[in-house]
Amino acid sequence: MLARRQFPATSSHNWRGAAPFVIVNFLPLLAVFTGISRTAVTLFLVLYVVRLLSITAGYHRYFAHRSYRLARLPQFLLAFVGLTAVQKGPLWWASHHRDHHRYADTERDPHSPQRGFWWSHAGWITSGEYGNNTDYSGIEDFARYPELRWLNQHDWIGGWSLGFACFLIGGWSGLVVGFFASTVLLWHVTFSINSLAHLFGRRRYATTDTSRNSMILALMTFGEGWHNNHHHYPRCTRQGLRWWEIDITYMVLRFGAVLGIVHDMRQPPKAVLSSSRIHDGATDLGLIRYHLSRAASVAAASNSDALIDLFDSTADQAATLTKGTRARLSAASESELSEPALS
Ligand SMILES: [Zn+2]
Ligand SMILES: [Zn+2]
Repeated sequence: MLARRQFPATSSHNWRGAAPFVIVNFLPLLAVFTGISRTAVTLFLVLYVVRLLSITAGYHRYFAHRSYRLARLPQFLLAFVGLTAVQKGPLWWASHHRDHHRYADTERDPHSPQRGFWWSHAGWITSGEYGNNTDYSGIEDFARYPELRWLNQHDWIGGWSLGFACFLIGGWSGLVVGFFASTVLLWHVTFSINSLAHLFGRRRYATTDTSRNSMILALMTFGEGWHNNHHHYPRCTRQGLRWWEIDITYMVLRFGAVLGIVHDMRQPPKAVLSSSRIHDGATDLGLIRYHLSRAASVAAASNSDALIDLFDSTADQAATLTKGTRARLSAASESELSEPALS
């Protein structure tokens, strides 16, 4: 019966656990009392750009997807800068993100968009379900570096040290605007890829999830808004695949390659670029499953056994289709992840 497959709606939202997160979201309002100094604005802009890159180029494209290679020192520095974005440790972040790709839009997806907007945006973090513990079995390739495990276990160091530095440099205004306001903006911009990029935009590839491409999100997130491209071929360093798909993170990484810091950026094979194109008639399995699940929720809510049975059998057929596609993608991804990380 479909009722067994229903996602928990709001029962797992932990509003009390979300209190610290909510409070920090309102801290930038203290700028009314501290004022907004020029130093604070400079800190805000610099910290937003540098830390966004540490998440997009670092936590995401390097630690989660290993789409390029780094030597051990730049790897450590990238992880440390990532800590200052206050999104927990690199190994925690990357292992959960790998689960997002492995089980996209299913019950095992940590921030499945099928559990609602808030859940996919921030509810999955504040719920306490994913805590602070990292399942190292999902990130063994990087967990073998003791310095990364140490950073991952002491992730509080990043936020506290940067907050203190902002206070020393810019006083209360530097702390409130330079640190807290840019951190809050950075959170929501990053989280929007888990929420909005599975809701708004266009789909080019028939992935088995609801990922979409959006120019607005791509500009806000330095290239991560080409999310449907990314779900189609997650190991690719760049996510903008057309000349007009602006991908600032990829531009920065190319500059890093010119400097000799970034190595072996992974390009998409031609066959991948032209496969599963919805425009060419491929069946959009991700959206089929999404609409079936929504219809099943309506049927379950109306408590109609006949309707639920009808959706149950149809959904089973779709699940069989998507399972086959997912297994092929997963097998390809697993074999690539077994390669050594460092150059
Ligand atoms: Zn996604
Ligand atoms: Zn990803």
